[in-house]
Amino acid sequence: MKLSEIARERGIRFFLIAYTDLFGTLRAKLVPARAIDVMAEDGAGFAGFATWFDMTPADPDVLAVPDSSTLIQLPWKPEVGWLAADPWMNGALVEQAPRNVLRRLVAAGETQGLEMRTGVEPEFFIITPDGQAIADGADTQAKPCYDQLTLMRRFDVIAAISDAMEALGWGPYQNDHEDANGQYEMNWDYAPALVTADRHAFFKYMVRSIAEQHGMRATFMPKPFSTLTGSGCHAHVSVWRGGQNAFKGDDELGLSPLAHQFLGGVMAHAEALCALTNPAVNSYKRINAPVTASGATWSPSTVSWGGNNRTHMVRVPGSGRIEYRLADGAANPYLLQAGLLAAGLDGVAHARSAGPRLDLDMYVAGAAVEGARSLPLNLLDALRAFEACAPLRAALGEAFVSSYVKLKRQEWDSYMRHLTAWERDATLDC
Ligand SMILES: [Mg+2]
Repeated sequence: MKLSEIARERGIRFFLIAYTDLFGTLRAKLVPARAIDVMAEDGAGFAGFATWFDMTPADPDVLAVPDSSTLIQLPWKPEVGWLAADPWMNGALVEQAPRNVLRRLVAAGETQGLEMRTGVEPEFFIITPDGQAIADGADTQAKPCYDQLTLMRRFDVIAAISDAMEALGWGPYQNDHEDANGQYEMNWDYAPALVTADRHAFFKYMVRSIAEQHGMRATFMPKPFSTLTGSGCHAHVSVWRGGQNAFKGDDELGLSPLAHQFLGGVMAHAEALCALTNPAVNSYKRINAPVTASGATWSPSTVSWGGNNRTHMVRVPGSGRIEYRLADGAANPYLLQAGLLAAGLDGVAHARSAGPRLDLDMYVAGAAVEGARSLPLNLLDALRAFEACAPLRAALGEAFVSSYVKLKRQEWDSYMRHLTAWERDATLDC
């Protein structure tokens, strides 16, 4: 059915044709329903340079061609339909575009009969509109995690988002107050990687929009407050073959050899993966962080894995899946999935070993583990590791990697030109 017919049937007056750029920002055009069929064919035109793409003002239009299977009627404004789009230029898919990168990886998995399915756990803060403080001034406990009173004080916002996910068929199943004051998490069912990435991109937009409607603001910034726990975006990953969970096995954790090889790839390329799953300057204030006001950071500092133990980079919470705990709220929804898939498939292709499982509290005993690799201490180190990682370069594509690293290095340079109050305090009297 044509999108114009769907529009008539469902009362959609406008469509947002949207793509996610390299830095994770959703870019969109608002198209009246009368024009949607032409746009669906030819794409909506964008100046790529005006967004976070490695392009110049002289480049021709990026044409964002909507994927009609992604249609979401905004639950809070059903007259608008949202469509994830694939960027094209000069008659070819834009290789650096994150959704295109993920689709290539998904297709590569399919050629081996493998389908990655993921559930993401995005944490976020609800803050004041000026971004300076958490919105709930009464949310001050040292251990606020799962606090019923503060959770219910935000019922109107949380329920609106949860109801929206229910209406969209995502299968929401739990919401909670997280470990930092002002921090929340909402969970919905896992799905194939591309579906989850589209939903994750929309979720971030939806949470911000609904918070704004209630006079507040939501942020997925990894570490908005230095003494509080940061916002992670854990990813629960399994790989399926022929409709069966191929991660399920009969070792002591319930994992298969395939799961161990996939994990081996994630472990082997962990430092490089940080460039994608921890992509902000601020990301490195969440990992490698000192103990927070609640007593733990809940984020890893070392490349390690364990059983049902939250102090490791990868946890095996139960049979048939692994939980990648490194990613944070700044992760681009498409590049998070693409990075995991690229690393995991490389692990499978080379039958990589994940190394020994560690059954210890890494927050206490981590420093004593011989040979444990530390995670990058800043974005520049992560970008250097990413540039040097030949398997990820090959899997993600040279065009994407070089463009991504170029723009991210520019961001790092911009940060380095910024003089901080700390520097003045520490150095004025040198
Ligand atoms: Mg959490």
